[in-house]
Amino acid sequence: ISSEEIVKAYFDRIEETEAKLNSFISLNKEEAIKSAREIDKRLKNGEKLGDLAGIPVAIKDNIVTEGVKTTCGSKILENFVPPYDATVVKKLKDEGAIIVGKTNLDEFAMGSSTENSAYKTTKNPWDLERVPGGSSGGSASAVAAGQVPFALGSETGGSVRQPASFCGVVGLKPTYGLVSRYGLVAFASSLDQIGPFTKDVEDCAIALNSITGYDSKDSTSINREKIDYKEALVNDVKGLKIALPKEYFDDSIDAEVKNKVYEAIKVLEDLGATVEEVSLPHTEYALATYYIIAPSEASSNLARFDGVRYGNRVKDYDSVEDLFVKTRSQGFGEEVKRRIMVGTYALSSGYYDEYYRKAQRVRTLIKQDFEKVFENYDVIISPTTPTTAFKIGEKATDPVSMYLSDILTVSVNMAGICGMSIPCGYANDLPVGLQIIGNAFEEKKVLRVAYTYE
Ligand code: GLN
Repeated sequence: ISSEEIVKAYFDRIEETEAKLNSFISLNKEEAIKSAREIDKRLKNGEKLGDLAGIPVAIKDNIVTEGVKTTCGSKILENFVPPYDATVVKKLKDEGAIIVGKTNLDEFAMGSSTENSAYKTTKNPWDLERVPGGSSGGSASAVAAGQVPFALGSETGGSVRQPASFCGVVGLKPTYGLVSRYGLVAFASSLDQIGPFTKDVEDCAIALNSITGYDSKDSTSINREKIDYKEALVNDVKGLKIALPKEYFDDSIDAEVKNKVYEAIKVLEDLGATVEEVSLPHTEYALATYYIIAPSEASSNLARFDGVRYGNRVKDYDSVEDLFVKTRSQGFGEEVKRRIMVGTYALSSGYYDEYYRKAQRVRTLIKQDFEKVFENYDVIISPTTPTTAFKIGEKATDPVSMYLSDILTVSVNMAGICGMSIPCGYANDLPVGLQIIGNAFEEKKVLRVAYTYE
């Protein structure tokens, strides 16, 4: 089968399903078919390309693509066409992957449902009345519905794992520094990381291989020896030590979700892993800490959208300040404004020590909780989310209840470690996600556990 045929088949599937799902903000059919033909030609000439040669890929619309509109789900970047490719996009293209389109997201990746997108709300393919999760909801639904076999998302506090869980696909948040953030539009720079969505664990390992590696253009990229994640695809967890943090199984977590996760843990135990309860004592402060740190960094990062340097600018204004104020007032949605205000407040003199500095100190305690557990255990397992996918509109007017859906994911970002969500059955006919957390740069271990379970 040729790459052209593969790409066309996926576009058929997209055309069949997209009107119902809204996974994409933009599609790239002509370009994609052209690139596929080129790949076919190169393969015919005997050229050696990567594992992803001819494979269709979707990219979250906060990752820049040369010559292709990148909106971040925001009106302020409605017509923004970046002049360069993000490092991950370049790597995918170099391997021969075909970019089919850009996926929907919560504006600037702030949200848990894609309802904060300025353009559309993506639907969960399992139940069109429900959200796909977020903020990378478009990428998750695209993979779940078979519109693409592989999509990229980004994580600041769970935006790959949570939608993967809601949509019944595999999603991975790599260790901070493993994947270049160059060309990922910054939300909270100390937390952001790009991660893959795939239908199974093997594809996840292949996807991870294609996006990892040192990048001098990202000062937080880590220069380590390149790992082949396919080596992790072995069916064996004998002797592995699994920790279950009791705070991740408390009464706030849906009982049916917990049951499915316990069943999955039993499977791993039967395969020879040992399982013990542990404590991550600072978990109760994780959400509050995240919702100081993430908005603080966001308020600083989003200062660049001023109507001068990027994107839209209002037509009528009396002064430069008026230009900034009007452009930002009209360009940003409600949740983005809320974060900018919270963040600006937390960083302002007089409040900085009380909020931002304190949050940073609690963040260290959260990180140390994990370090202690990883002294004695290989991986940590929990549900990915407290519930299965919720209804569209259910939490849209209540930010705090929306924020609560991140309670099991944000700590991993703050600790800079890696985490993965894989499907582990259904509760009320909706997918449940099993979260596997590993220490920094232990993606192989996480993948091995996931592969063995799957
Ligand atoms: N839902 C979280 C938030 O709104 C996480 C978002 C993300 O990971 N990008 O901040």
